[in-house]
Amino acid sequence: MAASCRFLVRFNTLQKCILSVNANAECSISSALGGIRHKSTISQSEQHQYDLVIVGGGIVGAATAQELITRHPNLKLAILEKEKELAAHQSGHNSGVIHAGIYYVPGTLKARLCVKGMEMAYKYCDKHQIPYKKCGKLIVAVEPEELPRLDVLMERGLKNGVKDIRMVGPDAIKEIEPNCVALKAIHSPHTGIIDWGLVTKHYGKEFEKRGGNIYTNYEVDTFLTKAESKEGSIQGLTHNVEIHGSNPANPVVSCRYVVTCGGLHSDRLAEKSGCNPEPKIVPFRGEYLLLAPEKCNMVNGNIYPVPDPRFPFLGVHFTPRMDGSVWLGPNAVLAFKREGYGYTQFSLSDFVDAVSFRGLRKLAVKHLGYGIQEMYKSIYINAQVKQLQKFVPSLKLEDVRRGPAGVRAQALDRDGKLVDDFVFDSGSVDMSSRVLHVRNAPSPAATSSLAIAEMVADRVEQQFQL
Ligand SMILES: Cc1cc2nc3c(=O)[nH]c(=O)nc-3n(C[C@H](O)[C@H](O)[C@H](O)COP(=O)(O)OP(=O)(O)OC[C@H]3O[C@@H](n4cnc5c(N)ncnc54)[C@H](O)[C@@H]3O)c2cc1C
Repeated sequence: MAASCRFLVRFNTLQKCILSVNANAECSISSALGGIRHKSTISQSEQHQYDLVIVGGGIVGAATAQELITRHPNLKLAILEKEKELAAHQSGHNSGVIHAGIYYVPGTLKARLCVKGMEMAYKYCDKHQIPYKKCGKLIVAVEPEELPRLDVLMERGLKNGVKDIRMVGPDAIKEIEPNCVALKAIHSPHTGIIDWGLVTKHYGKEFEKRGGNIYTNYEVDTFLTKAESKEGSIQGLTHNVEIHGSNPANPVVSCRYVVTCGGLHSDRLAEKSGCNPEPKIVPFRGEYLLLAPEKCNMVNGNIYPVPDPRFPFLGVHFTPRMDGSVWLGPNAVLAFKREGYGYTQFSLSDFVDAVSFRGLRKLAVKHLGYGIQEMYKSIYINAQVKQLQKFVPSLKLEDVRRGPAGVRAQALDRDGKLVDDFVFDSGSVDMSSRVLHVRNAPSPAATSSLAIAEMVADRVEQQFQL
């Protein structure tokens, strides 16, 4: 948007900008990994000058950074992340499932990237000794009217090339999950569990090993562009984008190209470079319940219901965690703050921003009943337990307590339609030849992260002619 994107057109202005950072001053770039600090005595303007900057240190940003630096070891790359460490939001607050790719409409990016991403994730974790468990998954139908929908899922899974899935009846279900009762289920033996936050930090570590820099506590506030020189080679004029942080202590970072992977803020980051504010991100909190430690042997693997096809959420499920605990959930309620993990976390500006958006109002009118049900389940956890008892009848209310929450970045268009697949945007303004925004990286983007990174890197190479 023009208001946030000023143009510096005169070379002397550019010089001033570069010199406004103390020459030869000592500068620290905090590492996301354990607070190590790298020290350097080169000039600040040079030190904070990059070929390409990735904004957002979630799993998509970190995987993309790792892929790009592996392909282009001679380029200087950095990640800018507003929190004190990587994976502070969606990538560190999720179900921790390695999805196999059953649900997604065949041919969509979501379907292709998930199936490929799962294979890549297992290989990567084996190579780097990142722990995971291939504990499998059942998608269970408990009511006769769910059976046709289960068949549709099976068909999709087979079309998507998901390996070794099979339809099982009540006896086989009992063998796999002795406490589960259902009419029929899809069994996916290769579905697994992992700590996606740990994986994100590993991507970051590999990126740093290959020479990339990670700036944490750096919230990108403004993108500025400088006029292109005709030759494009006059000292300084090749690094045409200037990035300013919201904290005056943040150094000015200049670069040739920018990729943003901003998760819950992806629409705002796109708007800052002059792109359309839509699709808009609306935050939906997903709250989990925790199974009492002595009940954690109630399930062996993941147990999911047949999802409601009107929504992109997979339904309240049982998910074992890498630490031996079991999470139940999540539900989906509107969050009052983009990164609001509890009811008490409220941001007036985020709230007004969401409810004044025509797309959200349209969605609310269309699905008012569903929204109220989800709110009810969020307040009265026995409603959520009842849902889970449909397939694990031995679960009791006293077996559970409230647990953590995650917030999903749900992209929404102005007609209230949930945007279900990936959205890339560069806009059509002055910065468009220099910026690529990943505006929607929906679940299962953690599972798909390495495949998404390949796709984003291909796009970057094509668009920026790297
Ligand atoms: C409740 C829940 C359960 C899920 N379960 C699964 C699952 O089991 N399996 C699976 O594969 N996927 C799952 N997902 C989806 C998956 O977690 C996300 O799709 C994925 O983490 C998205 O990664 P990201 O990098 O796009 O976003 P994020 O992880 O949100 O990262 C975006 C980053 O950008 C930073 N940022 C934003 N604005 C700025 C700025 N101005 N300056 C600097 N930095 C900025 C943020 O601080 C953040 O770190 C789940 C998601 C949720 C919410």
